[in-house]
This record gives sequence, C-alpha cells and structure tokens, in this order.
Amino acid sequence: MSKIISRKKKVENKQEEKEQSFRMILWLLVFVVLILAVMVILPLIQNRENKAEGYACTLAIRRAQDAVLVEFLSDPELTEQQAYVVVDQSKLAREDLCPSGGTYFLVPISGGSWRVTCGLHEEDTKLRTQINAAYVLETVQNQLAARRRSEMSIENDLIISLNGKALDVKLLAGDNGLRRGTDYSIDFDGVVSFFSLNAANEVNWFVYADANHAAVWKPSTGWSGDAYPKT
Ligand SMILES: [Zn+2]
Repeated sequence: MSKIISRKKKVENKQEEKEQSFRMILWLLVFVVLILAVMVILPLIQNRENKAEGYACTLAIRRAQDAVLVEFLSDPELTEQQAYVVVDQSKLAREDLCPSGGTYFLVPISGGSWRVTCGLHEEDTKLRTQINAAYVLETVQNQLAARRRSEMSIENDLIISLNGKALDVKLLAGDNGLRRGTDYSIDFDGVVSFFSLNAANEVNWFVYADANHAAVWKPSTGWSGDAYPKT
C-alpha cells in the first residue's frame, strides 16, 4: 500500500515539476515578448517625435529664410551679421527656430544672399558637419582669446553649447597626443571634438567628428577631413 502511495506521490511530484517548468517557460516567453515589444516600439515612437520636430524645424527655417530673402531684395549688401538679426526677428516670441534645440546657421549662397539652416536638421550631412565644426572652432577660439586677455590659464576642456546640448571639447596634450587625465568618453550622438594648443595658447589642431563625417582644422592647411573634398 505504502509503495503505491509513494509511486503516486512520485508521479504527482513529476507532474508538478513539469507544470512548474512549463510555467517558467511561459513566464520567460512573456518576458522576452515584452522586451522585444519595448525594443521595437520605443524607437518607433522616438522616430515619430524626431520626424515631427524635423518638420517643425523646416517650417520655422523656411519662415526665417523668407524674411532673409525679403531683406536681401531690399538690400543686396546684406551682411552675415545683419542676416542673423533678421533670422532672430523672424522667431516667434520665446520660440526657438528648431524645436529640438538645433543651432541655426547662415550659409552663403550664390548671388550674395544667405541660406538659413539648422545644425541638427540640415540634410546635407557633409555641410552639417562643416557648419557645426566651424561654429565649435570659432567658439573655442573666442573663449581662448578671452582667457588670454584675462591671463587665465588654459589647461581644461571647454564646454560649448551646440544644438541644445553641452559639448565637451577636449584639450589634448598635442597632435594625436594622449588626453590629459584618464577618461575619454564620446559625447552625445557620437559627437566628439578636441583641440591642441601651441606655446602661445592658440589652437594648432582641431577635430570635430559626428556619426557621419569628420572635420579637421590646422592653421597652416585650413579645413580637411572627409566632410571636405580632397584638394
Ligand atoms: Zn532643427
């Protein structure tokens, strides 16, 4: 009798084990499906938001572009600085041109006028790298000049506001030199930028690279890198 009971128990135990492992597998499946769903859905939502912001940016840029064109027609001598003022005035109250915080730029076009564009949403990826790189270099040079004037030492990275975010422009010990310090992290969206200085604390090597292209600047040769055609 007891043998029969123990056999019955064994069978019950086995069945319970089977059910338990089945339940485990079921939970695992649910878990995997949930993770997959999140992995698929999140980028879709992000993509939609990005597209909406890109569209809003395009509209605002077009409005600014029209304002610049009208101004240019009445004054063909319109300077870059004046064009920037026109763009600023075209913004609606307390609203940036780009809803994603993109920095806007004026690119000279044939005929002497200016094209308004955004550092995030410019579709020509080479031009996008070029305008962002030129802006970062100019800001770095301005900040260095201000520090030289006030005789402040220059031994740190510079933080520059670009496209709505803070870009850490890293100071290297020399061309291709190792970075001072230890950490070497790549910044937002794969953007990385660094520079080195000569004895007079002027930039003698500057690099800006994003997910698409790189721009390199040296005082002797100017701009190069794959964002520029080879000369
Ligand atoms: Zn934009």
